[in-house]
Amino acid sequence: MKKWVFLFNELDEAEKYVGGDWESIRALLGGKGANLADMTRLGVPVPPGFTVTTEACNAYLAAGNKFPEGMWDQVLAAMKEVERLSGKKFGGSENPLLVSCRSGAKFSMPGMMDTVLNIGLNDETAQAMIKLTNNERFVYDSYRRLVQMFGAVVLGMDDEDFEDVLEEYKHEKGAKSDTDLSAEDLKELTAMFKKVVKKGKGFDFPSDPYEQLRLASEAVFKSWFGKRAVDYRRATNIPDDLGTAVNIQTMVFGNMGNDSGTGVAFTRNPATGEKVMYGDYLLNAQGEDVVAGIRNTEPIQNLKNDLPEAYRQFMEICDKLEAHYKDLQDVEFTIERGRLWMLQTRNGKRTARAAVKVAVDMVQEGLIGKDEAVLRVSPENVDTLLHPQFNPETIKAAKANKSFLGSGVNASPGAAVGQVYFDADTAERMNKEFKQDVIMVRPFTKPDDVHGMLAAKGILTSEGGATSHAAVVARQFGVPCVVGASAIRIDLDKRQMEVNGVVVKEGDWISLDGTTGEVFLGKLDMTAPSLEEQTDLMTLLSWADEICARPGTRKGENNTPTRGLQVWANADYPKDAQRARAYGAVGIGLCRTEHMFFEPERLPIVQRMILAKSSEDRKAALDELLPFQRADFEGLFTAMDGYPVIIRLIDPPLHEFLPAAKDLEEQIITKRVEALAGYLLGKGEPKEVHDLEALLGAVETMHESNPMMGMRGVRLSIVMPEIVEMQVRAIFEAAANVTLKGVHAKPEVMIPLTGHVNELKVIQPRLIEIAKAVMEEKKVEFPYKFGTMIEIPRACVTAHEIAGVAEFFSFGTNDLTQMTYGYSRDDAERTFLVKYVESGVLPNNPFQTLDRDGVGRLMDIAVKDGRRARPDLEVGICGEHGGDPASIEFCHLVGNNYVSCSPFRVPVARLAAAHAALKHAAK
Ligand code: PEP
Ligand code: MG
Repeated sequence: MKKWVFLFNELDEAEKYVGGDWESIRALLGGKGANLADMTRLGVPVPPGFTVTTEACNAYLAAGNKFPEGMWDQVLAAMKEVERLSGKKFGGSENPLLVSCRSGAKFSMPGMMDTVLNIGLNDETAQAMIKLTNNERFVYDSYRRLVQMFGAVVLGMDDEDFEDVLEEYKHEKGAKSDTDLSAEDLKELTAMFKKVVKKGKGFDFPSDPYEQLRLASEAVFKSWFGKRAVDYRRATNIPDDLGTAVNIQTMVFGNMGNDSGTGVAFTRNPATGEKVMYGDYLLNAQGEDVVAGIRNTEPIQNLKNDLPEAYRQFMEICDKLEAHYKDLQDVEFTIERGRLWMLQTRNGKRTARAAVKVAVDMVQEGLIGKDEAVLRVSPENVDTLLHPQFNPETIKAAKANKSFLGSGVNASPGAAVGQVYFDADTAERMNKEFKQDVIMVRPFTKPDDVHGMLAAKGILTSEGGATSHAAVVARQFGVPCVVGASAIRIDLDKRQMEVNGVVVKEGDWISLDGTTGEVFLGKLDMTAPSLEEQTDLMTLLSWADEICARPGTRKGENNTPTRGLQVWANADYPKDAQRARAYGAVGIGLCRTEHMFFEPERLPIVQRMILAKSSEDRKAALDELLPFQRADFEGLFTAMDGYPVIIRLIDPPLHEFLPAAKDLEEQIITKRVEALAGYLLGKGEPKEVHDLEALLGAVETMHESNPMMGMRGVRLSIVMPEIVEMQVRAIFEAAANVTLKGVHAKPEVMIPLTGHVNELKVIQPRLIEIAKAVMEEKKVEFPYKFGTMIEIPRACVTAHEIAGVAEFFSFGTNDLTQMTYGYSRDDAERTFLVKYVESGVLPNNPFQTLDRDGVGRLMDIAVKDGRRARPDLEVGICGEHGGDPASIEFCHLVGNNYVSCSPFRVPVARLAAAHAALKHAAK
């Protein structure tokens, strides 16, 4: 005879039946049944019960809703055993056995019949329960719930039929809530509910406990093909032929006197991770009482005084469960007349802080290995731990009191609170002179706003997207930032902004959450952590690095590296490089040199250089800039002693360094008006106006309709080579100077925006000559490379040619995404991209998460073809995707040597790189 029923204490038999492995056990008994049996085998006191298998379910449904032969007899036999184990009798009038009936498929699955409790209650057993619990109200409440649940869930009636009766009854009695009803009321309601059943179904609510059990079991089976369950399976690709199991289990009661009770606990503190039991209980109470919060619960430690033996046993069991499941457990228990029963255990939910501490502690306790510990913590956890945060309660309260202003793109994570200022100078001044916490608010930002952004605690823009200037700079400096908050109307003249009718004036306080993109009025409470203080996190990240450094992690096909990814950082200044190193970066993947041109004492020289009429004049201005750049690079090489530093030659179009035409026109008019009096007296136009007009003329000549696709990157270098020649000289002089002081400098010069190999062929040899000349002049040698950014689709598909010249590739996925999709990285989010993502046209924002199918495919071609031409080609990524976990995973798969991201993202990227290595470990 086929076995359709397994008692919870028959796990060994079930294992034999399926041939051993745990997945097959779960398929046979369902997840819930398998776990209950597992706990029982561990020796944990689980209320006795049994599982009717998924095979029985399939057989029942296949036979047109008929129990397979022998199944019901096995259920009856199992019930006898449960009666023996529990010392109770199903339908008994003294110590009645009540059971619960639950569905349980292999995968937890909404949409199926969930639970019917208290099966076995009828008028007779109810009397016995009243005697046992001394709580008539509780018993009738359970009884009327059984009739209602049974009617709705098992008999398929409309729940409203019962709710209407209940509401009307409460109205008549003047009861506001269920708790106002007395035992007598509930008794009467039970009788009324039975009438509802009779009226709706034409037969009586079954008072025979076995009939209740049979109908409930059938209902579980049938619910496998309920509409919601089928829809869920379709959506999640769970096959139809798995079937569901039925779990029938003894009900236990914590409200049978002061030697009874119930509670919930975590085996470690889920907020801090500390190894201290954390939970609550109530004596003489059922589970609902704990959850409902009507009575004040006691901390679990007090159980030691109330019921010492149960407490001792409970602690022992928790240790056992942790040792078995090797994770923090979230348990539910009930004590019935002095006897402890464990109702459930599962891996407990926890905060980011607790996730890290528990993982590290468990390695130290020998429970898990380092790989497992690293996998237990998510990159989001790390992110959370490194940025100031608002606590969730604060956010909830702020939303409730309507201080939520609006939201935009979550461009740079972290919480910030400050006073609003609408331009960079004021923001900087209020911070420097008045020590204010400021939030800089602009429609969008430009390179000459950086000083204000650096002085700000947070940045908010109404335009721009995830790779806009504001977003990139904010992430680089770790400043929380929300961009493209299009509901905000900024009025720069009135020095105020308006959001949905709320006016925020300069100096008013706002709070913004760069992690979620939300903005609030007023000051919200927040907490601010630091990495160095988080020793557990530092330990965990060092394990992540060990995982990535393992040789053989990748197969090494097509000349890909065999270790995992390294994590480098994008850093422009020595102090960023220092932070990057402290956060664990082992290289600089991108130094955007032009940022250095915006420093106040340098910008006028840069402008002079741009406006120079002759090559000599240009060279003279560049000679003035050279010492500045050299000093910057010396600082970078020193900070990154021993690690590679990739310095990108000038990239943006030159007009970015000049004032806007509109501003110049305004200045000219103002000056003219000022000079009007003199003019009337016959004086000529002042020189100032002449100069401004000359500047305006230059700005107008440089105007391009499409500057992002215009004279920038390598094109600029070819047309105006003096700038990059100066830069390369500065790089190599700096490297030589620090080398002579004992620093190991490893400069790598990066040429941006290459689209055709000939561009490199023109410029690179000229620059290499300068490099060699400097080394000869300084009589010093050090390793160096010349390479290129890959940010134009044409560069990807001609990578074999480009790698013939370039010694390294670095994917600039901001531009590569822009050019592959043809979406403007500055405008797309504001205009259509956010809508695209919200409405599902695109799965996510391609400027945040790398588009594997399009951009990724181009990268794959570039890596493969590039390494075919140059097997030791170094490949990295320095676009914003370098700090995004899903994109990092792709970089691992595509064969990058490293990812480079802002210093603040480095810890997140280290963990994400280790996850990718573990998830895709070479077999
Ligand atoms: C890129 O395009 O991905 C990149 C890193 O360069 P930038 O953002 O400076 O254009
Ligand atoms: Mg770029």
